[in-house]
Amino acid sequence: MLKLGITGGIGSGKTTICKLFELLGVPVYYADEESKKILDEDKLVKEQVIKMFGSSILNDSGIIDRKELAAIVFNNKEQLEKLNAILHPAVGQHFENWLKKQNTAYILKEAAILFESGAYKQVDKVLTVVAPLELKIQRTMKRDGVSKEEVERRMQLQMTDEEKIKRADFVIINNEQELLIPQVFSLNQQLVNK
Ligand code: ATP
Repeated sequence: MLKLGITGGIGSGKTTICKLFELLGVPVYYADEESKKILDEDKLVKEQVIKMFGSSILNDSGIIDRKELAAIVFNNKEQLEKLNAILHPAVGQHFENWLKKQNTAYILKEAAILFESGAYKQVDKVLTVVAPLELKIQRTMKRDGVSKEEVERRMQLQMTDEEKIKRADFVIINNEQELLIPQVFSLNQQLVNK
């Protein structure tokens, strides 16, 4: 079974495109969503994170406060690496278990920082979703109710589109001019007929 990673910058439309693939019957693993779930629910991961960052990152209900944790790690590369060293192997293992239950010609794995996190090594091919910068900013501001400055700050943590395109096997353009469905359909045909 072919493992296709799908990546792209904030607001590029990864999730939207994954939903289209799901309509065609392709299973999708949402790595970012799963890693949040693991942080909330996996006892061992939680224990290690508390040990590393202290119990002040817990909220009143005893759940890890992601905003608190993000404030620590997004301003400190070393701390981010420590968190990733706990989280990435757990997500990797969860993905492997999920994979065993799938039986289609190929599956998709969605991750915003597929290249940056090294998760591209766990997939066979990579699809990059690209969109014009201004459109990505507008979409994210509207979806998350955040300022332009906040979106730009988040974008700075990610690799540029040019770099992602260079490293991709397939590219989908989500600029609201090229039609999306034919692009998804054509790639699906290619992958199913392999
Ligand atoms: P992130 O990495 O920030 O989670 P993403 O790449 O998964 O973003 P989406 O959540 O799919 O991006 O899209 C961002 C927003 O833009 C969503 O509100 C989505 O509905 C909208 N959007 C995406 N593509 C299109 C499109 N072709 N036409 C109109 N709206 C779109």
